[in-house]
Amino acid sequence: MSKGILTVISGFSGAGKGTLMRKLTRDYPNYALSVSMTTRAPREGEQEGRDYFFVDTDTFQERIRQGQMLEYACYCGNYYGTPGDYVQEQLEAGRDVILEIEIQGALQIRKLMPDCLLLFVTPPNAGELRRRLEGRGTESPEVIARRLARAAEESEGIEAYDYIVINDDLGECVRQIHSMVQNARYTPARQETLINEIRGELNSFSKGAE
Ligand code: 5GP
Repeated sequence: MSKGILTVISGFSGAGKGTLMRKLTRDYPNYALSVSMTTRAPREGEQEGRDYFFVDTDTFQERIRQGQMLEYACYCGNYYGTPGDYVQEQLEAGRDVILEIEIQGALQIRKLMPDCLLLFVTPPNAGELRRRLEGRGTESPEVIARRLARAAEESEGIEAYDYIVINDDLGECVRQIHSMVQNARYTPARQETLINEIRGELNSFSKGAE
């Protein structure tokens, strides 16, 4: 069985990634969505084990020391990271895995697994981003200002991604992400077995013809 595709989805805070991920996994239940670990406090309505594994800094650092994190980063004063076991197990079982993580983590994943797919989600413009962050009503003005400053920094790294996803229409966006993952299956790097088989056969044909 071929391994699943690892897709990393990043985007500015407030770009609507959470809503996108919920719809993507509802519309296409075969995706395995990795649950991250974080030291930030839960927001209202967030659930342990569904949205994040919420831990204290000592626990997080211990996980890093034990080599249990596939990647991790510090984002606006808190640690965030991807526990490695789940991702490896799902990929080995042939399931496509989605990580919704920020850019430093995305770049670590690309180094570790160069054949992963990196997608960057953005609203159609920066004004829309600010309106969404303010409209969410879950963050203080200071936190919003920090997240906007961070978005300006992150915008410098967009070229490292494979595709941009403009989050204008939710349904369309989800369909686009799904087809990007489907298309990624057919890059030569992910069809190595097929290519080697065809090469081997062609070589044996031409030997037979000699
Ligand atoms: P939030 O606090 O809004 O839930 O997340 C803040 C940022 O952390 C978002 O950009 C989100 O994508 C990112 N993030 C969430 N989980 C992880 C993770 O496991 N690793 C990394 N590097 N970033 C993460």
